[in-house]
Amino acid sequence: MHLDQPTIAVVMMVFFCSTLIIAAGLVFALRASEAGRLWAYGHMLASAAGLALAVSAAGAAGASGHLGTFGAGAFVCGWLMIYRGVRVYYGVPAHPGALAGAGVIVLGVMVTSSGLPDGPQLALRMVYGVLALVSLATFATLARAGRGRLSIGAPLVLVASLVQLATQLAGFSHAMTLPATSAGPLTLFFANPAGSGWVLAPLIATLLGLFGFTVMAMEQIVAHNESGARVDALTGLLNRGALDMSALGLVARWQRDGAPLACLVIDIDYFKQVNDTFGHHAGDAVLREVAHALDNSRRASDVAGRYGGEEFCVLCPHTDEQQASALANRILRKVRAIELPAGQGYASVSIGVAQLRGGPGSKEGLWRTLFADADRALYHAKEHGRDRYVLASSMAAPETAREFGAPLLEPATDLAG
Ligand code: GH3
Ligand code: MG
Ligand code: MG
Repeated sequence: MHLDQPTIAVVMMVFFCSTLIIAAGLVFALRASEAGRLWAYGHMLASAAGLALAVSAAGAAGASGHLGTFGAGAFVCGWLMIYRGVRVYYGVPAHPGALAGAGVIVLGVMVTSSGLPDGPQLALRMVYGVLALVSLATFATLARAGRGRLSIGAPLVLVASLVQLATQLAGFSHAMTLPATSAGPLTLFFANPAGSGWVLAPLIATLLGLFGFTVMAMEQIVAHNESGARVDALTGLLNRGALDMSALGLVARWQRDGAPLACLVIDIDYFKQVNDTFGHHAGDAVLREVAHALDNSRRASDVAGRYGGEEFCVLCPHTDEQQASALANRILRKVRAIELPAGQGYASVSIGVAQLRGGPGSKEGLWRTLFADADRALYHAKEHGRDRYVLASSMAAPETAREFGAPLLEPATDLAG
Protein backbone atom coordinates (compact mmCIF):
# COMPACT_ATOMS: atom_id res chain seq x y z
CA MET A 1 0.00 0.00 0.00
CA HIS A 2 1.38 3.41 -0.93
CA LEU A 3 -0.08 6.54 0.62
CA ASP A 4 0.76 10.00 -0.66
CA GLN A 5 1.73 12.77 1.71
CA PRO A 6 -1.59 14.70 1.72
CA THR A 7 -3.49 11.46 2.49
CA ILE A 8 -1.12 10.67 5.37
CA ALA A 9 -1.53 14.21 6.70
CA VAL A 10 -5.34 13.87 6.65
CA VAL A 11 -5.21 10.43 8.34
CA MET A 12 -2.94 11.86 11.02
CA MET A 13 -5.18 14.89 11.58
CA VAL A 14 -8.27 12.73 12.05
CA PHE A 15 -6.35 10.27 14.22
CA PHE A 16 -4.73 12.80 16.55
CA CYS A 17 -7.95 14.81 16.81
CA SER A 18 -9.66 11.63 18.05
CA THR A 19 -6.92 10.66 20.53
CA LEU A 20 -6.76 14.26 21.80
CA ILE A 21 -10.49 14.21 22.58
CA ILE A 22 -10.25 10.73 24.17
CA ALA A 23 -7.22 11.72 26.28
CA ALA A 24 -8.95 14.95 27.43
CA GLY A 25 -11.91 12.84 28.60
CA LEU A 26 -9.54 10.43 30.36
CA VAL A 27 -8.03 13.29 32.39
CA PHE A 28 -11.37 13.39 34.24
CA ALA A 29 -12.13 9.67 34.17
CA LEU A 30 -8.71 8.65 35.56
CA ARG A 31 -8.16 11.53 37.97
CA ALA A 32 -8.26 9.14 40.95
CA SER A 33 -5.05 7.45 39.75
CA GLU A 34 -1.74 9.34 39.56
CA ALA A 35 -0.48 7.04 36.80
CA GLY A 36 -3.80 7.44 34.96
CA ARG A 37 -3.46 11.24 35.08
CA LEU A 38 0.10 11.06 33.70
CA TRP A 39 -1.05 8.75 30.88
CA ALA A 40 -3.98 11.02 30.02
CA TYR A 41 -1.84 14.21 30.04
CA GLY A 42 0.98 12.45 28.17
CA HIS A 43 -1.41 11.30 25.43
CA MET A 44 -2.96 14.77 25.28
CA LEU A 45 0.46 16.34 24.75
CA ALA A 46 1.53 13.74 22.18
CA SER A 47 -1.81 14.02 20.36
CA ALA A 48 -1.73 17.83 20.29
CA ALA A 49 1.85 17.65 18.96
CA GLY A 50 0.87 15.02 16.36
CA LEU A 51 -2.04 17.23 15.28
CA ALA A 52 0.28 20.23 14.93
CA LEU A 53 2.67 18.13 12.81
CA ALA A 54 -0.17 16.94 10.59
CA VAL A 55 -1.58 20.47 10.15
CA SER A 56 1.90 21.69 9.33
CA ALA A 57 2.44 18.87 6.83
CA ALA A 58 -0.85 19.70 5.12
CA GLY A 59 0.50 23.19 4.54
CA ALA A 60 -2.17 24.89 6.62
CA ALA A 61 0.41 26.60 8.78
CA GLY A 62 2.91 29.13 7.59
CA ALA A 63 5.99 28.33 9.63
CA SER A 64 5.94 24.60 9.02
CA GLY A 65 9.66 24.22 9.87
CA HIS A 66 9.32 25.54 13.41
CA LEU A 67 6.00 23.87 13.95
CA GLY A 68 7.59 20.57 12.93
CA THR A 69 10.52 21.07 15.31
CA PHE A 70 8.35 21.94 18.31
CA GLY A 71 5.72 19.36 17.39
CA ALA A 72 8.22 16.52 17.25
CA GLY A 73 9.84 17.71 20.51
CA ALA A 74 6.48 17.93 22.29
CA PHE A 75 5.56 14.50 20.92
CA VAL A 76 8.67 13.03 22.56
CA CYS A 77 7.88 14.87 25.85
CA GLY A 78 4.36 13.37 25.81
CA TRP A 79 5.80 9.86 25.58
CA LEU A 80 8.31 10.58 28.34
CA MET A 81 5.36 11.55 30.54
CA ILE A 82 3.53 8.32 29.59
CA TYR A 83 6.64 6.33 30.55
CA ARG A 84 6.78 8.12 33.90
CA GLY A 85 3.16 7.02 34.43
CA VAL A 86 4.22 3.39 33.89
CA ARG A 87 6.88 3.70 36.61
CA VAL A 88 4.46 5.43 39.01
CA TYR A 89 1.90 2.68 38.36
CA TYR A 90 4.29 -0.05 39.45
CA GLY A 91 5.70 1.94 42.36
CA VAL A 92 9.28 1.94 41.02
CA PRO A 93 11.33 5.18 41.20
CA ALA A 94 9.82 7.50 38.58
CA HIS A 95 12.86 9.80 38.18
CA PRO A 96 10.71 12.83 37.28
CA GLY A 97 13.74 15.15 37.25
CA ALA A 98 15.73 12.94 34.87
CA LEU A 99 12.74 12.48 32.53
CA ALA A 100 11.96 16.23 32.52
CA GLY A 101 15.66 16.89 31.85
CA ALA A 102 15.59 14.45 28.91
CA GLY A 103 12.58 16.33 27.47
CA VAL A 104 14.32 19.68 27.80
CA ILE A 105 17.49 18.30 26.14
CA VAL A 106 15.48 16.88 23.22
CA LEU A 107 13.69 20.20 22.69
CA GLY A 108 16.97 22.13 23.04
CA VAL A 109 18.84 19.97 20.52
CA MET A 110 15.93 20.16 18.06
CA VAL A 111 15.76 23.95 18.23
CA THR A 112 19.53 24.52 18.03
CA SER A 113 20.01 22.02 15.22
CA SER A 114 17.21 23.40 13.09
CA GLY A 115 19.53 26.08 11.64
CA LEU A 116 22.21 23.55 10.59
CA PRO A 117 22.34 22.14 7.04
CA ASP A 118 21.96 18.55 8.31
CA GLY A 119 19.73 19.67 11.21
CA PRO A 120 16.53 17.95 10.02
CA GLN A 121 18.37 14.64 9.61
CA LEU A 122 19.91 14.94 13.07
CA ALA A 123 16.54 15.82 14.61
CA LEU A 124 14.84 12.93 12.80
CA ARG A 125 17.39 10.43 14.12
CA MET A 126 17.07 11.81 17.63
CA VAL A 127 13.27 11.67 17.62
CA TYR A 128 13.25 8.06 16.43
CA GLY A 129 16.10 7.11 18.76
CA VAL A 130 14.52 8.62 21.90
CA LEU A 131 11.08 7.21 21.07
CA ALA A 132 12.64 3.76 20.53
CA LEU A 133 14.36 4.02 23.93
CA VAL A 134 11.09 5.07 25.61
CA SER A 135 9.24 2.12 24.01
CA LEU A 136 11.99 -0.26 25.11
CA ALA A 137 12.01 1.11 28.66
CA THR A 138 8.18 0.91 28.81
CA PHE A 139 8.31 -2.68 27.62
CA ALA A 140 11.06 -3.62 30.11
CA THR A 141 9.29 -1.95 33.08
CA LEU A 142 5.99 -3.64 32.24
CA ALA A 143 7.64 -7.03 31.75
CA ARG A 144 9.67 -6.85 34.97
CA ALA A 145 7.46 -4.98 37.45
CA GLY A 146 4.17 -6.39 36.11
CA ARG A 147 5.29 -10.04 36.26
CA GLY A 148 2.87 -12.19 38.24
CA ARG A 149 0.14 -9.54 38.33
CA LEU A 150 -3.18 -10.37 36.75
CA SER A 151 -4.07 -7.64 34.27
CA ILE A 152 -5.93 -7.25 30.99
CA GLY A 153 -4.51 -3.81 30.18
CA ALA A 154 -0.79 -4.55 30.69
CA PRO A 155 -0.48 -7.18 27.88
CA LEU A 156 -2.12 -4.72 25.46
CA VAL A 157 0.45 -2.06 26.37
CA LEU A 158 3.26 -4.64 26.08
CA VAL A 159 2.21 -5.48 22.51
CA ALA A 160 1.75 -1.79 21.67
CA SER A 161 5.26 -0.99 23.00
CA LEU A 162 6.78 -3.75 20.87
CA VAL A 163 5.06 -2.49 17.71
CA GLN A 164 6.14 1.09 18.52
CA LEU A 165 9.71 -0.11 19.09
CA ALA A 166 9.78 -1.96 15.74
CA THR A 167 8.42 1.01 13.77
CA GLN A 168 10.76 3.48 15.47
CA LEU A 169 13.78 1.27 14.80
CA ALA A 170 12.67 0.97 11.16
CA GLY A 171 12.31 4.77 11.03
CA PHE A 172 15.70 5.24 12.69
CA SER A 173 17.51 2.96 10.24
CA HIS A 174 15.72 4.68 7.35
CA ALA A 175 16.85 8.08 8.70
CA MET A 176 20.43 6.76 8.90
CA THR A 177 20.43 5.90 5.19
CA LEU A 178 19.13 9.30 4.09
CA PRO A 179 21.70 11.72 2.67
CA ALA A 180 22.18 14.71 4.94
CA THR A 181 20.34 17.10 2.69
CA SER A 182 17.30 14.98 1.89
CA ALA A 183 15.85 14.34 5.33
CA GLY A 184 13.02 16.78 4.61
CA PRO A 185 10.86 18.47 7.22
CA LEU A 186 10.03 16.74 10.47
CA THR A 187 6.35 17.24 9.97
CA LEU A 188 5.63 13.66 8.94
CA PHE A 189 8.27 11.72 10.77
CA PHE A 190 5.64 9.11 11.41
CA ALA A 191 5.42 8.34 7.74
CA ASN A 192 8.99 7.12 7.24
CA PRO A 193 9.93 5.16 5.26
CA ALA A 194 8.19 7.96 3.39
CA GLY A 195 4.80 7.28 1.97
CA SER A 196 4.48 3.60 2.84
CA GLY A 197 1.66 1.98 4.77
CA TRP A 198 4.04 1.92 7.77
CA VAL A 199 2.27 5.02 8.96
CA LEU A 200 -0.65 2.91 10.12
CA ALA A 201 1.40 0.64 12.44
CA PRO A 202 2.37 3.27 15.06
CA LEU A 203 -1.12 4.77 14.89
CA ILE A 204 -2.76 1.42 15.62
CA ALA A 205 -0.17 0.75 18.36
CA THR A 206 -0.92 4.18 19.88
CA LEU A 207 -4.65 3.35 20.00
CA LEU A 208 -3.95 -0.10 21.46
CA GLY A 209 -1.62 1.44 24.07
CA LEU A 210 -4.13 4.18 24.96
CA PHE A 211 -6.80 1.54 25.51
CA GLY A 212 -4.38 -0.65 27.50
CA PHE A 213 -3.31 2.25 29.75
CA THR A 214 -6.96 3.14 30.37
CA VAL A 215 -7.79 -0.44 31.35
CA MET A 216 -4.74 -0.58 33.66
CA ALA A 217 -5.77 2.64 35.43
CA MET A 218 -9.35 1.40 35.77
CA GLU A 219 -8.05 -1.90 37.20
CA GLN A 220 -6.09 0.07 39.79
CA ILE A 221 -9.07 2.24 40.71
CA VAL A 222 -11.39 -0.79 41.01
CA ALA A 223 -8.83 -2.69 43.17
CA HIS A 224 -8.43 0.38 45.39
CA ASN A 225 -12.21 0.75 45.84
CA GLU A 226 -12.63 -2.97 46.53
CA SER A 227 -9.97 -2.95 49.24
CA GLY A 228 -11.53 0.25 50.66
CA ALA A 229 -14.89 -1.53 50.90
CA ARG A 230 -13.29 -4.41 52.83
CA VAL A 231 -11.10 -2.47 55.23
CA ASP A 232 -12.12 -0.59 58.37
CA ALA A 233 -11.00 2.99 57.77
CA LEU A 234 -9.97 3.70 61.39
CA THR A 235 -7.90 0.61 62.18
CA GLY A 236 -6.92 -0.84 58.79
CA LEU A 237 -8.22 -4.26 59.83
CA LEU A 238 -10.99 -6.04 57.92
CA ASN A 239 -14.42 -4.55 58.50
CA ARG A 240 -17.35 -6.62 59.71
CA GLY A 241 -18.65 -7.53 56.24
CA ALA A 242 -15.24 -8.70 55.06
CA LEU A 243 -14.68 -10.59 58.32
CA ASP A 244 -18.00 -12.41 57.88
CA MET A 245 -17.04 -13.33 54.31
CA SER A 246 -13.64 -14.65 55.43
CA ALA A 247 -15.27 -16.55 58.30
CA LEU A 248 -17.68 -18.32 55.94
CA GLY A 249 -14.73 -19.33 53.74
CA LEU A 250 -12.82 -20.71 56.75
CA VAL A 251 -15.89 -22.58 58.02
CA ALA A 252 -16.32 -24.13 54.54
CA ARG A 253 -12.67 -25.24 54.67
CA TRP A 254 -13.26 -26.68 58.16
CA GLN A 255 -16.23 -28.65 56.74
CA ARG A 256 -13.96 -30.06 54.02
CA ASP A 257 -10.78 -30.92 55.92
CA GLY A 258 -11.88 -30.95 59.58
CA ALA A 259 -8.75 -29.10 60.75
CA PRO A 260 -9.50 -27.12 63.94
CA LEU A 261 -10.71 -23.53 63.63
CA ALA A 262 -10.48 -21.14 66.60
CA CYS A 263 -12.09 -17.75 67.15
CA LEU A 264 -11.09 -14.96 69.54
CA VAL A 265 -13.53 -12.18 70.38
CA ILE A 266 -11.70 -9.24 71.95
CA ASP A 267 -13.23 -6.23 73.72
CA ILE A 268 -11.37 -3.23 75.15
CA ASP A 269 -11.94 -2.82 78.90
CA TYR A 270 -13.62 0.33 80.23
CA PHE A 271 -13.29 1.99 76.86
CA LYS A 272 -16.18 4.34 77.51
CA GLN A 273 -14.09 5.85 80.31
CA VAL A 274 -11.24 6.45 77.88
CA ASN A 275 -13.60 8.42 75.62
CA ASP A 276 -15.25 10.23 78.50
CA THR A 277 -11.96 11.18 80.14
CA PHE A 278 -9.67 11.92 77.20
CA GLY A 279 -12.09 12.58 74.34
CA HIS A 280 -12.99 10.66 71.19
CA HIS A 281 -9.75 11.46 69.35
CA ALA A 282 -7.71 9.89 72.13
CA GLY A 283 -10.18 6.97 72.10
CA ASP A 284 -9.63 6.51 68.37
CA ALA A 285 -5.86 6.49 68.90
CA VAL A 286 -6.20 3.73 71.53
CA LEU A 287 -8.44 1.77 69.13
CA ARG A 288 -5.77 2.02 66.44
CA GLU A 289 -3.03 0.90 68.83
CA VAL A 290 -5.04 -2.10 70.02
CA ALA A 291 -5.74 -3.03 66.38
CA HIS A 292 -2.01 -2.75 65.70
CA ALA A 293 -1.25 -5.03 68.65
CA LEU A 294 -3.72 -7.63 67.31
CA ASP A 295 -2.27 -7.42 63.84
CA ASN A 296 1.27 -7.89 65.15
CA SER A 297 0.29 -10.85 67.34
CA ARG A 298 -1.48 -12.98 64.73
CA ARG A 299 0.01 -15.42 62.22
CA ALA A 300 -0.13 -14.59 58.53
CA SER A 301 -2.89 -17.16 58.00
CA ASP A 302 -5.05 -15.72 60.81
CA VAL A 303 -7.77 -13.23 59.88
CA ALA A 304 -8.25 -10.15 62.08
CA GLY A 305 -11.14 -7.70 61.86
CA ARG A 306 -12.97 -4.98 63.75
CA TYR A 307 -16.35 -6.43 64.52
CA GLY A 308 -17.83 -3.13 65.65
CA GLY A 309 -17.18 -0.33 68.16
CA GLU A 310 -14.30 -1.43 70.41
CA GLU A 311 -14.75 -5.11 69.66
CA PHE A 312 -12.42 -7.18 67.49
CA CYS A 313 -12.31 -10.75 66.23
CA VAL A 314 -9.43 -13.00 65.15
CA LEU A 315 -10.04 -16.26 63.30
CA CYS A 316 -7.28 -18.87 63.40
CA PRO A 317 -7.40 -21.77 60.95
CA HIS A 318 -5.55 -24.99 61.88
CA THR A 319 -5.63 -23.88 65.53
CA ASP A 320 -7.43 -25.45 68.49
CA GLU A 321 -8.59 -23.68 71.63
CA GLN A 322 -5.40 -24.42 73.56
CA GLN A 323 -3.16 -23.17 70.75
CA ALA A 324 -5.34 -20.08 70.41
CA SER A 325 -4.77 -19.32 74.09
CA ALA A 326 -1.10 -18.65 73.25
CA LEU A 327 -2.26 -15.96 70.82
CA ALA A 328 -4.65 -14.58 73.47
CA ASN A 329 -1.71 -14.30 75.89
CA ARG A 330 0.40 -12.48 73.32
CA ILE A 331 -2.43 -10.02 72.68
CA LEU A 332 -2.98 -9.40 76.43
CA ARG A 333 0.73 -8.69 76.90
CA LYS A 334 0.97 -6.32 73.92
CA VAL A 335 -2.19 -4.39 74.87
CA ARG A 336 -0.99 -3.97 78.47
CA ALA A 337 1.97 -2.03 77.05
CA ILE A 338 -0.34 0.58 75.42
CA GLU A 339 -0.15 3.67 77.57
CA LEU A 340 -3.25 5.85 78.02
CA PRO A 341 -2.96 9.63 77.65
CA ALA A 342 -1.63 11.74 80.53
CA GLY A 343 0.05 8.72 82.15
CA GLN A 344 -3.33 7.52 83.39
CA GLY A 345 -2.46 3.82 83.24
CA TYR A 346 -2.50 1.23 80.49
CA ALA A 347 -5.09 -0.27 78.20
CA SER A 348 -6.37 -3.79 78.60
CA VAL A 349 -8.70 -6.15 76.78
CA SER A 350 -10.83 -9.15 77.66
CA ILE A 351 -10.86 -12.12 75.31
CA GLY A 352 -13.22 -15.02 74.71
CA VAL A 353 -11.71 -18.04 72.93
CA ALA A 354 -13.75 -20.77 71.25
CA GLN A 355 -13.17 -23.61 68.84
CA LEU A 356 -15.62 -24.68 66.16
CA ARG A 357 -17.15 -27.96 67.28
CA GLY A 358 -20.60 -27.95 65.68
CA GLY A 359 -21.84 -30.87 63.59
CA PRO A 360 -23.51 -30.61 60.21
CA GLY A 361 -25.20 -27.32 59.49
CA SER A 362 -25.05 -24.33 57.24
CA LYS A 363 -21.84 -22.32 57.12
CA GLU A 364 -23.74 -19.30 58.39
CA GLY A 365 -25.18 -21.28 61.31
CA LEU A 366 -21.77 -22.72 62.29
CA TRP A 367 -20.15 -19.27 62.13
CA ARG A 368 -22.93 -17.80 64.32
CA THR A 369 -22.42 -20.61 66.85
CA LEU A 370 -18.63 -20.21 66.92
CA PHE A 371 -18.90 -16.45 67.43
CA ALA A 372 -21.61 -16.84 70.10
CA ASP A 373 -19.41 -19.35 72.03
CA ALA A 374 -16.44 -16.96 71.97
CA ASP A 375 -18.70 -14.03 72.90
CA ARG A 376 -20.06 -15.95 75.90
CA ALA A 377 -16.51 -16.68 77.01
CA LEU A 378 -15.71 -12.97 76.61
CA TYR A 379 -18.66 -12.13 78.85
CA HIS A 380 -17.19 -14.45 81.50
CA ALA A 381 -13.79 -12.80 81.18
CA LYS A 382 -15.48 -9.44 81.83
CA GLU A 383 -17.41 -10.90 84.76
CA HIS A 384 -14.27 -12.33 86.33
CA GLY A 385 -12.21 -9.19 86.40
CA ARG A 386 -11.28 -8.27 82.76
CA ASP A 387 -7.72 -8.19 81.32
CA ARG A 388 -7.81 -11.95 80.82
CA TYR A 389 -8.98 -14.62 78.42
CA VAL A 390 -11.49 -17.38 79.01
CA LEU A 391 -11.82 -20.58 77.00
CA ALA A 392 -15.37 -21.42 75.97
CA SER A 393 -14.76 -25.05 76.94
CA SER A 394 -13.74 -24.18 80.50
CA MET A 395 -16.07 -21.42 81.46
CA ALA A 396 -16.46 -22.71 84.97
CA ALA A 397 -12.76 -22.06 85.61
CA PRO A 398 -11.65 -18.88 83.88
CA GLU A 399 -7.92 -18.58 83.52
CA THR A 400 -6.06 -15.60 84.85
CA ALA A 401 -3.59 -14.61 82.24
CA ARG A 402 -1.93 -11.62 83.86
CA GLU A 403 1.75 -12.39 83.70
CA PHE A 404 3.28 -9.15 84.77
CA GLY A 405 1.75 -6.37 86.74
CA ALA A 406 0.77 -3.37 84.70
CA PRO A 407 -1.54 -0.77 86.20
CA LEU A 408 -5.06 -1.37 85.03
CA LEU A 409 -7.92 1.00 84.54
CA GLU A 410 -10.18 0.27 87.45
CA PRO A 411 -13.95 0.59 87.38
CA ALA A 412 -15.51 4.04 87.49
CA THR A 413 -13.84 5.48 90.60
CA ASP A 414 -10.41 5.70 88.98
CA LEU A 415 -11.18 7.82 85.99
CA ALA A 416 -14.77 8.77 85.85
CA GLY A 417 -14.78 9.60 89.49
P1 GH3 B 1 -16.41 -2.97 79.18
O1 GH3 B 1 -15.12 -3.11 79.90
O2 GH3 B 1 -17.53 -3.60 79.92
O3 GH3 B 1 -16.31 -3.41 77.78
O4 GH3 B 1 -16.73 -1.41 79.20
P2 GH3 B 1 -16.70 -0.42 77.98
O5 GH3 B 1 -16.73 0.95 78.55
O6 GH3 B 1 -15.55 -0.75 77.12
O7 GH3 B 1 -18.00 -0.82 77.21
P3 GH3 B 1 -19.20 0.05 76.71
O8 GH3 B 1 -19.98 -0.85 75.79
O9 GH3 B 1 -19.95 0.65 77.87
O10 GH3 B 1 -18.58 1.25 75.90
C1 GH3 B 1 -18.00 1.08 74.63
C2 GH3 B 1 -17.61 2.44 74.14
O11 GH3 B 1 -16.90 2.38 72.92
C3 GH3 B 1 -18.79 3.35 73.90
C4 GH3 B 1 -18.52 3.99 72.55
O12 GH3 B 1 -18.65 5.39 72.62
C5 GH3 B 1 -17.08 3.63 72.29
N1 GH3 B 1 -16.80 3.51 70.84
C6 GH3 B 1 -17.35 2.66 69.96
N2 GH3 B 1 -16.81 2.86 68.71
C7 GH3 B 1 -15.90 3.86 68.83
C8 GH3 B 1 -15.02 4.54 67.90
O13 GH3 B 1 -14.97 4.25 66.71
N3 GH3 B 1 -14.22 5.52 68.40
C9 GH3 B 1 -14.26 5.87 69.71
N4 GH3 B 1 -13.44 6.82 70.14
N5 GH3 B 1 -15.09 5.28 70.60
C10 GH3 B 1 -15.90 4.29 70.17
MG1 MG C 1 -15.45 -2.59 76.12
MG1 MG D 1 -18.05 -3.68 73.68
